Parts: sequence; C-alpha cells; structure tokens
Amino acid sequence: MKFNENTRYGTTNVVIERHTIVETSSALPFERRDLSQDTTISSLSNVSSGQQVTIKGHLTDLFGSKKILSRSGQELIKQDGLVSDATGTIKETEAFEGPLAKPDISQEALTNKELIVNLLGLSSASQHISCSSCRRKIESEDNPSIAFCSACNLTQKVSRCSKQWIVKLFLQSNENPNHKFNVTAFNNIVQQLVARCFTDDSLDQMTPKQLTNHLIADIDELHIVYDTIQKKIIELS
Ligand SMILES: [Zn+2]
Repeated sequence: MKFNENTRYGTTNVVIERHTIVETSSALPFERRDLSQDTTISSLSNVSSGQQVTIKGHLTDLFGSKKILSRSGQELIKQDGLVSDATGTIKETEAFEGPLAKPDISQEALTNKELIVNLLGLSSASQHISCSSCRRKIESEDNPSIAFCSACNLTQKVSRCSKQWIVKLFLQSNENPNHKFNVTAFNNIVQQLVARCFTDDSLDQMTPKQLTNHLIADIDELHIVYDTIQKKIIELS
C-alpha cells in the first residue's frame, strides 16, 4: 500500500491519494463499525484533501441530472444537490451508474393549481424596462433615454429595451365564492389578457390607468393555472 503521512493537525494521519492502492484483506484484527462521529458541514474547512469524512444532513435542493463519461469511458449520470445541516450547506455531486429513480409527484404538481375564477379588481399595474442583455429589471438614470443595468453593467438605449408589465389581480374562485385572493400576472400573461379586451390600443402605448380600466371592463371569467407559493399566474386557457 502506497500512502503519504502528514502531521499537519498535531497527529499523524495517513493520507489516501489517487495513486494509493487499498488492498482488501479477508480478516481485519478489529470489528467494522459505522462512524458515529459526524463531521459538521462548517467544520469541513478543517479536513485535509483526500481525507474521508462522514457528514449527516438534509438534502435541501436537487438539481437536474446530466450524463458524463467516466475516465474508463463508462457513461454515468451526474447529479448535484445541496446538503445542509445546522451549521452550513455544501454542494454534493453524485455519479450514478444507472438511471435515477424519479419522484412520483413533481414539485409543480404540488404547487400549481387550476381554477376557474372571476376578476374582481386590480390592486396594481406597473411597467418597468428590462435589460437587453440579461433581461433583469433596470431603472433609467437621470437621462430618460439611457439606462444602466447594475446586474451586467450594460449601459443601453431605453428605446431598445423591452417593457414588462406586472399586474396584481384580485380574483374570486368560481366554485367557492368565499375564496378571494391576489395573484400576480407577469408580462406574457398581461399580453394574453389584453388580447381578450375589446380594444385595438397597443399594450406598449397604454398607461397603467388605461390598462386597469380595459381589464376591469372586459375581463370577467378566467380559467387559470397559478403557482400557489409564488402567487403568480402561469397559464391562461
Ligand atoms: Zn443586464
């Protein structure tokens, strides 16, 4: 067995590295025991590279999986996740040989709700411009024709930026009239709502007041899919 030793932390540690060959032995002179002394996530900065540690935590986020090729040419499925304990969070990468089990219920199915509603009113309608490059919301500067995006540092022409409407609707469930709630409609939904109004005015030219009046006058019943957590409309049908 080829290995290195270090005495960095006051004790002599065996460091297992890439070139280390661990031979299996049939009988060890001690019993195998699961490690009960867990390392906390915040203390991981004190462990040395190559050291094996056991951490115990909750999987708080799971990202999409992708296929990778291992050094031996074998196709593996790689998936990243976030593991948290009371002291911190780390990103954890797993490479699996086989396909991953898919959860039965998607996150979408848990938070999205389909409902027939009546439009009772609008509590706000506002418009902002979004960055031509990263599409984030930006504010125009003192000069109303020039805008600066603090997210990607792009100084740009306001006239070339797209305008995004955000409208807050107050709705009532058709099935249960006592259920009244606010949801946000972002630009793509606002465009679809205006298309149902009896007006030829372009959304770009409307003031918030005009948009509010058109929607209240012309929109009554709606069939929506909305996100119950983020309180936003996802789909109109
Ligand atoms: Zn930007």
